[in-house]
Amino acid sequence: MMNIADNLAGIHKRIELAMRKAGRMDRPKLIAVSKTKPVEMVNEALSAGQYDFGENYLQDALVKIDQLSKSNNKNKKIIWHFIGPLQSNKASQVAEKFDWLHTLDRLKIAQRLNDHRPEHLAPLKVCIQVNLANESTKSGIHPTKCLEFAEKIMLMPRLSLQGLMAIPKRLTSFDGQYEQFMQLRQLRDDLTRQGVGVPELSMGMSQDLEAAVCAGATMLRIGTDIFGARN
Ligand SMILES: *Cc1c(COP(=O)(O)O)cnc(C)c1O
Repeated sequence: MMNIADNLAGIHKRIELAMRKAGRMDRPKLIAVSKTKPVEMVNEALSAGQYDFGENYLQDALVKIDQLSKSNNKNKKIIWHFIGPLQSNKASQVAEKFDWLHTLDRLKIAQRLNDHRPEHLAPLKVCIQVNLANESTKSGIHPTKCLEFAEKIMLMPRLSLQGLMAIPKRLTSFDGQYEQFMQLRQLRDDLTRQGVGVPELSMGMSQDLEAAVCAGATMLRIGTDIFGARN
């Protein structure tokens, strides 16, 4: 039987070692990616003090969010991050139920999120997904189009632009992973110099979290090494 509290402790240790290696003092936020995993596992992580969760599949996620919002008070502190591809006809549900969206890459979706974010909630926090290698199969904004897109998002009052997100190519070498993550960091720093301050860098998964921490990730999205392999 897998122990989620132990797995979380192991991840925190890996983050600390990487921070030491990079000479970093600021701790990146850990998002536990619970996609495809049952609500019981989310509860176990909660008991171990983990409050940020990432989900990819909307219908699945809505069931979990609903179940957990009904159980106990502690669950009210959960922060839900939508990290999957989003169709525009589902945008209103993300606007109503989530705290964060990491995969914003279309104006039409941004507009819908902005229109549907309920008044009683704070503006939806969003990251722009960037397609670093300009791979045609992947979603995301091309780096050269990022500034223009970001400026449009910043005009939407019910969205709060926080940062950039990427899912780079799966590489096995630390140096290769690090170089890809540094491209996203560079892009963020360029935007900041051009007057668009987007502090967050959502990057790093189970297999490359060390390289992401060294490159300056502020949010790590970890699934497999917390909850086990997915089917
Ligand atoms: C599934 C997923 C993750 C988690 O990946 P692991 O390799 O299981 O840690 C992170 N980010 C996104 C966008 C994902 O879809």
